[in-house]
Amino acid sequence: MTVLFGSPPESHPTSDPVSVQFVDTTLRDGEQAPGVSLTPDQKAQIARELDRARVSVIEAGSACTGAGERETISRVASLGLDAKVTSFARGVQGDIDLALDCGVDGVHLVVPSSDRHIETKVGTTRDGVVEKTTSLVEYARDHGLWVEVLGEDGSRADLDYLERLLGAALDAGADRVCYCDTVGHATPEHTYEAVSRLAALGPTSTHTHDDLGLAVSNALASVRAGADLIHATVNGIGERAGNVALEEVAIALDHGYGIETVDTTRLFKLAQTVATATGIPLAPNKAVVGENAFSHESGIHTDGTLKDDAMYEPYPPEKVGRERRLVLGKHAGRAGVKAALDEHGVSVSPEELGTVVSRVKELGDRGKRVTDADLLTIAEEVQQRERDRRVELLGLTAASGGGTPTASVRLLVDGEERVASGTGSGPVDAAVSAVRSALGPAADAQLDSYHVDAITGGTDAVVTVEVEMSRDGRHVTVASSEADITRASVNAMVDALDRLLAAESTHVIADD
Ligand code: MN
Repeated sequence: MTVLFGSPPESHPTSDPVSVQFVDTTLRDGEQAPGVSLTPDQKAQIARELDRARVSVIEAGSACTGAGERETISRVASLGLDAKVTSFARGVQGDIDLALDCGVDGVHLVVPSSDRHIETKVGTTRDGVVEKTTSLVEYARDHGLWVEVLGEDGSRADLDYLERLLGAALDAGADRVCYCDTVGHATPEHTYEAVSRLAALGPTSTHTHDDLGLAVSNALASVRAGADLIHATVNGIGERAGNVALEEVAIALDHGYGIETVDTTRLFKLAQTVATATGIPLAPNKAVVGENAFSHESGIHTDGTLKDDAMYEPYPPEKVGRERRLVLGKHAGRAGVKAALDEHGVSVSPEELGTVVSRVKELGDRGKRVTDADLLTIAEEVQQRERDRRVELLGLTAASGGGTPTASVRLLVDGEERVASGTGSGPVDAAVSAVRSALGPAADAQLDSYHVDAITGGTDAVVTVEVEMSRDGRHVTVASSEADITRASVNAMVDALDRLLAAESTHVIADD
């Protein structure tokens, strides 16, 4: 397709460094994703992370939504961020007034541009929209606001009219206009044509949705056509199939076009912050931020990666604040297994390695993901070594009905029995806090991930809890399956702590 991959058009000579920035709308369009509601604290936390990543405009919400939303927008506006903080506003003066009450730097003034929206939704005429838009832009500018005018449903609008409407907005003093593919309907070719026409009028932004899976392509086509501000959300959350994902556009522009936008090393932290706050998990195969994006399992890929990091990766994980992972499973080979054993300080003979590899593959064949703990247990068995446990779970009780969830644990730590209790948001949290308290300073290991899978569908399901923990730069994964989720969680965590402490084996765990 010439639009994306052809030589740049005359109007954009490659000698001119292209500057592209983001409007992040995670806190507005992103929050409109079904089932998402962010607290004021969460919005402030996400805004700070966006600012650290050097996002240039943060759309903090929609001031007309209600008093609570206005309080939150005001809070984000008063954080003292480098980013411009803005509010969404419909094409009515009252919305601009409410945005002004929040102390924002600017507004995204959204006016209808397709006949469907003009006639059926708003019940007015093309001329009526132009007239109203002109007066609202003047009003907002007179009140000191930065103004971006969005032609809603622009991808389904008559292009001649869209040009007339947004041209009038620029003439009235709007800082910029925005092409909106509100329902994710456009192809990259259509997007290129529309944005080219708008960019000829003045500064142009683009707002793309992923209903056809084309959100990134359309954002890139917009940039090629002259857009220099991209509306996006972290993890691509948003209405229906979502908005274009900020991290995907940022890395595509950086890697494919040499265009720097945000600090890409902050992208993974940003993704995790938003996934946690919204409760929308990251799909494992998601570009840039998915769990598998830098994981290698097959023997061929692992072997190649061990010889040259770049063998099966377009860019290094560090670029987006991540680490490479070699995962063991049914496709494992000698090189990957040996590398994993080396990482845990276990050396094996070539014959033993062969046996360990076939045992790993057997486990993988049964559909199991092979954790570090599985690998180390297999190596111990193959080498007929006795595992010298440093931490062992002797007993666990947890209660959650009614009051504050509490738990108590009995651990054997270097031969000495320790008892401790803890409270938490639920029985698992309480039990984990009890384990940490029983272990004292040795419990400073970090819990990097915690996953629960139900093996069967009923309430009597056996659950598998997989944890990843790290300490002093060492990582370990452990899984535990039980009918009781609290017990499975504590087992996995105690095993992980034991494996991490066994690696430093010599000194005794200090008491508090
Ligand atoms: Mn939208």
